[in-house]
Amino acid sequence: MSEKPRWSRFVRAFSHFMFFFFIVSFVISCCTMLFVTVLSESLEVTLTEENVAAAAKLTFLNVVVISLIFTVADGIRRRFTVERPAKQIVTASEKMIAGDFNVRVKPVSKFMCDENFNKIIDCINQMAKELSGVETLRTDFVANVSHEMKTPLAVMQNYATLLQSEDLTEEQRREYARAISSACRHLSEMVSNVLKLSRLENQQIYPKTERYDLGEQLCECLLQYEGVWEKKRIEIETDIEDDVVITADRELLSHVWSNLFSNAFKFTPDGGRVSLTLKKEGNLAIVRVADTGIGISSQVGEHIFEKFYQADASHATKGNGLGLALVKRIIDITRAEISVESTLGKGSVFTVKLKTDGHETEKNM
Ligand code: ADP
Repeated sequence: MSEKPRWSRFVRAFSHFMFFFFIVSFVISCCTMLFVTVLSESLEVTLTEENVAAAAKLTFLNVVVISLIFTVADGIRRRFTVERPAKQIVTASEKMIAGDFNVRVKPVSKFMCDENFNKIIDCINQMAKELSGVETLRTDFVANVSHEMKTPLAVMQNYATLLQSEDLTEEQRREYARAISSACRHLSEMVSNVLKLSRLENQQIYPKTERYDLGEQLCECLLQYEGVWEKKRIEIETDIEDDVVITADRELLSHVWSNLFSNAFKFTPDGGRVSLTLKKEGNLAIVRVADTGIGISSQVGEHIFEKFYQADASHATKGNGLGLALVKRIIDITRAEISVESTLGKGSVFTVKLKTDGHETEKNM
């Protein structure tokens, strides 16, 4: 907080003094007049002009001294109970404006200061904490995106250099071209996921709700993975209840199902099993995607919905750790629920609960 110039502080102190002076002089004048009138009437004494002048001078002196005492006492009170906490709050706010979100303001003493200061201080501390979390997420996000982009870019660069040499067999040329194309696909998937996530987080996508049959949508999404389950000889089990109709954003939810199926197939070894069930319980549609894959430990389970989180940090399995972050965001926007139960080495079950009551869902959205 910038220090005020000396003259401005003097003007302020003087105006405080004048304020108390008028109040004290008014109160003392009224009291004195009342006292003197009652006294002279009851004692039947006639006051001379000198008596009144002497009393007036004494009273005036009293007023000046009492006003001065009040001004000083009020100045001290204000310094400790108003100016000091206000200065702390302003200093903290200025630091936050400058980008320092680690700043915290100490609560003020309840006996001396107005309790409202502590409420403001609480809000400032909370705001600083939230902003510091957002800042960490932002910097982590940028670092993660850059890191994830570096690998496919390096792959493309290396293979493109190799492709330039003239003594390559046709087979090698095709293999290098395939590697470049796969790195391109990986990069483009990641960029499109980052864009989707950023649009979802900035609420640029608003759910466009429509009434539709959830079972049909689940089957359509699952069928897109037919090539994958055939190649890996994965057994498919489905138990889909008829006529489960929901009112939701069809396109957004299709991302949820695709990500869950894609993970189930990705993390299930050859010859495993993936099952899909849809049940209606009360006004809830319950979707379960289960697999007999590698499973998720409880430690990993706490992080799987975070951006760029992958249990296998070596990235041996394809992916970029954005799929479940997208799923979670869509689930939040749709006001649905998602949970996961898993046993390491045995498999995982992802459960999504959606409201089937169309009108209510529409209202919520
Ligand atoms: P990606 O699949 O691209 O790595 P996701 O966000 O979809 O990213 O998943 C994050 C992590 O959660 C995965 O890397 C994996 O470790 C774990 N995971 C997700 N689904 C499953 C599953 N069905 N079985 C085992 N692990 C899973």
